[in-house]
Amino acid sequence: MQHRKVIIIGSGPAGFTAAIYASRANLSPLLLRGPTPGGWLTITTEVENFPGFPKGVMGPELMQLMEDQAARFGTTLEVDTIQSVDLHARPFVLTGERGQYSCDALIIGTGATPRTLGIPGEKELTGYGVSTCATCDGAFFRNQVVALAGGGDSACEEAAFLSRFASKVYLIHRRDQLRASKIMQERVFENPKIEILWNKEILEVQGSKKEGVKAIVLRDNKSDETSNLETAALFVAIGHVPNTNLFQGLLETDSHGYLVTIPGTSKTNIPGVFVCGDVQDPVYRQAITAAGTGCMAAIDAERYLEGLGK
Ligand code: NAP
Repeated sequence: MQHRKVIIIGSGPAGFTAAIYASRANLSPLLLRGPTPGGWLTITTEVENFPGFPKGVMGPELMQLMEDQAARFGTTLEVDTIQSVDLHARPFVLTGERGQYSCDALIIGTGATPRTLGIPGEKELTGYGVSTCATCDGAFFRNQVVALAGGGDSACEEAAFLSRFASKVYLIHRRDQLRASKIMQERVFENPKIEILWNKEILEVQGSKKEGVKAIVLRDNKSDETSNLETAALFVAIGHVPNTNLFQGLLETDSHGYLVTIPGTSKTNIPGVFVCGDVQDPVYRQAITAAGTGCMAAIDAERYLEGLGK
């Protein structure tokens, strides 16, 4: 079994930032990358809102730079999907598909998975007009018509955000009532640029990687009629699922399943276990906020280990 003072699970901006800080603190961390190496940024195209890149940077390139920076200071990377964790044992024990690991401090940055519609064209055109992050990609569609799927607070917030750039925003919801809070609904109803298409299911996204999204196919679930809607983008805002399966029953979660930290820290209900990034963040979900909490987790882990005399 491989032992480390610090093991980090997750290879998104949170995990890599934790790795950069932990390795610069001479903790020689091991970073375990699982089924989505590099996290969601590796499936986006251009990132324009990460500070330090005034001309923008491609998502995969940004993640490669973070990886190089972590490796430079002594982070070891292993590709292994962890199957189970024993957080009652000291040191903690992690069992992966390829090996077993133990550590004195564990940093969790396993992220959250955006829910997707699972329709033809959606996966193929992700990064080419289909996006699960309006904050990240809205500005690419200045003065264009865009569509957004969902009916919750995220959808309403993102529709309002998109209306700052787009000439028109179609909010497409599968029912005749929004799930969002009243105040968010009112903001959408009052916004002249947003039109809600009720009782509509999206059947398909049309377009190509070369030309981007051209249209979506809708089905009215009351009349069963189908129609085409021309749009330059489809934003999918139908919720996220935090990746917490490994920690069920071990770490405290909130009512939506996100891991809970002691406010203002990355600490969990188990001393020595720290959490960063989207798996603990239902609100911001940005690369830069994930990186910020990754830094917090590494500093908290370092101080914890110092307290143990390790
Ligand atoms: P959510 O509340 O779970 O809403 C998801 C929406 O997507 C629902 O309207 C749902 O439709 C729709 N949906 C789900 N699966 C779908 C599918 N396969 N096809 C079409 N539509 C689908 O998720 P959320 O909006 O991301 O919010 C998550 C939590 O974060 C909530 O507690 C929310 O209040 C909170 N939040 C708060 C703020 C804020 O206060 N500023 C901002 C964002 C999020 P149905 O309604 O028909 O189920």
